[in-house]
Amino acid sequence: MQPQKAKTKLIRPIVLTTIGFALLGLLVLRPAFAEALDPAEPLEHADPLAPIKVKQGGIVLLSIKPGPGTGLLRGGFKGKIIPFFQTGDGVYAMLLGIDMLQKVGGQPFVVRWRQNGKSYSQSYAIEIVEAAFGIQHLTLPKGKVDLDSPTLVRVKKEKKQMLEAFKDSLPVKLWQGNFITPVSGRRQGTFGRKRILNGQPRRPHTGEDISALEGAEIVATNGGRVVLVGDYFFNGQSIVIDHGFGLFSMYFHLSEISVAEGERLKRGHVIGKVGQSGRVTGPHLHWGMRLNGARIDPFSLVEKKLN
Ligand SMILES: [Zn+2]
Repeated sequence: MQPQKAKTKLIRPIVLTTIGFALLGLLVLRPAFAEALDPAEPLEHADPLAPIKVKQGGIVLLSIKPGPGTGLLRGGFKGKIIPFFQTGDGVYAMLLGIDMLQKVGGQPFVVRWRQNGKSYSQSYAIEIVEAAFGIQHLTLPKGKVDLDSPTLVRVKKEKKQMLEAFKDSLPVKLWQGNFITPVSGRRQGTFGRKRILNGQPRRPHTGEDISALEGAEIVATNGGRVVLVGDYFFNGQSIVIDHGFGLFSMYFHLSEISVAEGERLKRGHVIGKVGQSGRVTGPHLHWGMRLNGARIDPFSLVEKKLN
């Protein structure tokens, strides 16, 4: 980055119209590299006027080299602070998650930093493109779809408990290097699918299912801290790991759990076994990930080279 070319924009907010984006593009400091995860959607970062393209449910890895004397580097997206972390000598990176149901179109990503006593900010255009998630039809026992009132009360309470766990991410990076698939098995491609249960439309599928034999070992996708262990109506025996900086991984429908809340884990640590607890049609691992509050395709992290 060449901050002397940056324009300080701390006083007035800028209204980002399409033209505004183009004008801002002229001021954009080119990142050292930036890429969208899906190899089918290469980032057009060679052209500073071009937006960073990313699919719904995908992630953006942005890396910048801001120069000496830089501090307080952070990003902002849809009102959320996106932290940067150091990856090398003077190089900083951040991971931005795009929710699976994020509206398609342009969204500004603003980077702010301090350098030699001055504040700077720079806006990047992120273009969210549609992901074709498809539809999944499932037939389940009536009692698992048309819930009676005690079950509805239970489900509501469990949902609240799960959301509470996501409020508590440590403000440090607990993961190191690349993310790994937690169990070997076939990726079912169910992330984001709209679901029709017994003919009734339901919430879309927020994670990816991996087919595996009952009892197969499940490992932590990366380093973190166990923030939730429980047995839930929909998710069955479940684990949630906080990887820090607003990144969480979830593992559902287990037959056995071998970690406890509060435990610190390294990547590859065995956390439990594949099962069919909760609302399922057979043994598999439901693996979900959340980043800056966005429900993302967990494989989008595995495919990213973070070493
Ligand atoms: Zn699932």
